[in-house]
Amino acid sequence: MPEDRFGRSIHYLRISLTDRCNLRCVYCMPEQMHFRPRAELMQDEELIALTQMFARLGFRKFRLTGGEPTARENVVEIVRAIAATPGVRSLSMTTNGMLLEKLAEPLARAGLERVNVSLDTLDAQRFHRITRWGALERVWAGVHAAERAGLVPIKLNAVVVRGYNEDDLPGLARLTLENDWQVRFIEMMPLGSIRDFQQTQVVPTREMIARLEAAFGPLEPVSARPETPVPILDGEARLYRLPGATGTLGFIASVTQPFCAQCSRARLTADGRLRLCLLRERDLDVLSLLRSGLARPEIEARVGEAIWHKPWGHGLAHNVVAANRVMSEIGG
Ligand code: SAM
Ligand code: SF4
Repeated sequence: MPEDRFGRSIHYLRISLTDRCNLRCVYCMPEQMHFRPRAELMQDEELIALTQMFARLGFRKFRLTGGEPTARENVVEIVRAIAATPGVRSLSMTTNGMLLEKLAEPLARAGLERVNVSLDTLDAQRFHRITRWGALERVWAGVHAAERAGLVPIKLNAVVVRGYNEDDLPGLARLTLENDWQVRFIEMMPLGSIRDFQQTQVVPTREMIARLEAAFGPLEPVSARPETPVPILDGEARLYRLPGATGTLGFIASVTQPFCAQCSRARLTADGRLRLCLLRERDLDVLSLLRSGLARPEIEARVGEAIWHKPWGHGLAHNVVAANRVMSEIGG
């Protein structure tokens, strides 16, 4: 398995299938977003060849994201090819759910194991305000289709944005009382041209927890050992539970309590750049290396070297913000 110079095992690749999206969430991209010409993006065979290369290098866990991954042509065929790649042990997707009602079943049959669906509010008007273009009932239809298709456990991602949905925390958390879901509350991260908005409207995790505890009483940490009530980390989420709940709550405090020391991930953008830290600008243009005809061992060596030099962590505490791309251009 590839390692970086800090001894972290890097084996989790998040692949962006497209930079395009059928929504325009306020925390992710500007409304007038410009997308890259399709020729600059990985074509199906390039995407599959690069996935196979990462699996050969020792990557085991794969997540498809975007932009909106379900908006990519041939998404079912791409999932089938990745699921069949030797070395791929886990394959999941992060989606806004808008197209999931029809796609959940074919994606599950093609080998997708789980989905995270973004859902920031239970109120249709607020949902439209946050996503600019979204329709809440379509996302719900997608969530239910995903459950029927066995893409479980369902995880719901809510980015909390001051002035938009901080009052929705209790309602979203209440979903876990009856459903075996994980509702994850995410601190908004600053990226690219909308970083000023993201920095002024961020809601820190401690405030999210205080708001929930005001409504429900103390949250129970989901801990590995009951005598030490320290919440376990599920990926980047610290897990808690409402008293008596079936499901769990996850808090992703990337800004105020970064989990960089445990980071095992790298990202492949839709235009084929390997980005070793979401919040650092540097990347390796793997797609250009592939297109240049460089021999496979040479490309693998360059990738291994880039992984070795993965940045220790982000620089938000020192006000260092990656300005070159917004979230949808990287793959969240
Ligand atoms: N379109 C899909 C979706 O919305 O689920 C996948 C791509 S989206 C960029 C991946 C995840 O990043 C979503 O859960 C989204 O809510 C989250 N996200 C977007 N912008 C963010 C930001 N500035 N800070 C934290 N999370 C963000
Ligand atoms: Fe699209 Fe996802 Fe970004 Fe929303 S968060 S604009 S759904 S890529």
